[in-house]
Amino acid sequence: MTQHTFSIIKPDATKRNLTGKINAVIEDAGLRIVAQRRIHMTEAQAKRFYEVHKDRPFYGELVESMTSAPVVVQVLEGDNAVARYREVMGATNPEQAAEGTLRKLFALNVGENSVHGSDSLENAALEIAQFFSPADIVG
Ligand code: ADP
Ligand code: MG
Repeated sequence: MTQHTFSIIKPDATKRNLTGKINAVIEDAGLRIVAQRRIHMTEAQAKRFYEVHKDRPFYGELVESMTSAPVVVQVLEGDNAVARYREVMGATNPEQAAEGTLRKLFALNVGENSVHGSDSLENAALEIAQFFSPADIVG
């Protein structure tokens, strides 16, 4: 089934000029980038985006890191795109990420792990709606 998922190329990756290399891995995996914008997230946007983690000990550092430099927000389209992109990203902690995954290739540590991808179809729709309007998505 064709799905849309939401992706973020995080500050640790944009700072190291890795946007193109990450996009190449995404495209080589058969996912199509159907919307993309570079933004500097505000504190309010980052807090809202990661609200589910607000009681976790790393929430403050996560919000600080997500607002420390520009990010690239994206909508990815493909067959089973939500689960597929989670596979392409690899485990949250790069020490546990499989060979060839984005986090194995590029992440610095469990916090600065280069990419975000939605964890369910329902969250994908909510996350896409936080950053894109339907007209932005050109499939
Ligand atoms: P994922 O991004 O793989 O869905 P989570 O939803 O569990 O992972 O966490 C969201 C983000 O919070 C992670 O991608 C990472 O940037 C940060 N994070 C998660 N766990 C930790 C941790 N133990 N220490 C610091 N940052 C963390
Ligand atoms: Mg998550």
